[in-house]
Amino acid sequence: MSIPDYISLIVGYRGWTWDTMGLKSLCGERWHPNQSLAARCRASVVVGTIAGRAEAVHDAHEPPQANCTCGVYASKSLEQLLTTVYAKCGIHGEVYLWGTVVEHELGWRAQFAYPKTLFLPPDLIPSDTKEMESRLEALAAYSTDIFIVGGGQSIPLCRKGSGFDAAGLDYLIGKRTHYYDRRQRDRTLMRGDRVAVLGRGIAVVERADETEVHALLRNRIMLRIARKCIRWDGQNMRWEAEVLAPNGV
Ligand SMILES: [Zn+2]
Repeated sequence: MSIPDYISLIVGYRGWTWDTMGLKSLCGERWHPNQSLAARCRASVVVGTIAGRAEAVHDAHEPPQANCTCGVYASKSLEQLLTTVYAKCGIHGEVYLWGTVVEHELGWRAQFAYPKTLFLPPDLIPSDTKEMESRLEALAAYSTDIFIVGGGQSIPLCRKGSGFDAAGLDYLIGKRTHYYDRRQRDRTLMRGDRVAVLGRGIAVVERADETEVHALLRNRIMLRIARKCIRWDGQNMRWEAEVLAPNGV
């Protein structure tokens, strides 16, 4: 693909949804890497009737037309885009527009488009390593500049033509480490933690190691529970002990 290098090339702003396959318009249209998106007219060729007679508005092969709604949409400013639902839904950024371009007060409808720069909100980046890698690889395939943008910072993640940026990778490693640290901490049973002992009530952990846990039930009964009998229940967000072995001390 070659992006035409002439003066009428326009840069607009728009939003996309993002999955492991890459970018999609909010209407579901897939944007393929290294391939310009050509607008198609989705409005029926026959859009209405005048005096009982079908009225063909324009040839569906030549979008966009001034009197239709077809074309690849883009806002004229980032500020304007950020006031719309499009930016809130996900990844957003700059987009090249060319071919026939119909101008509106706040934006354009273009015949052809390709992403120029992508702004990726940090909370959209999956914490799961595998999911993160496949999603980011899908984005990198577009060979555009990509920035992680949010919380007053802008970190380069990908540079057009030179792949992933060290600053962006550092950020992702930090995010992942933080995520696994937190998960690890969440799953480590410690003194003071509460354990729902099924059928008996809530016990408070006095002492825990890799094989055995001592927990106080109703402030007076010390239970000794094999560590392997206690598991974290992610749905109930609590520790649960299913089996007592041996029973109270
Ligand atoms: Zn149309």
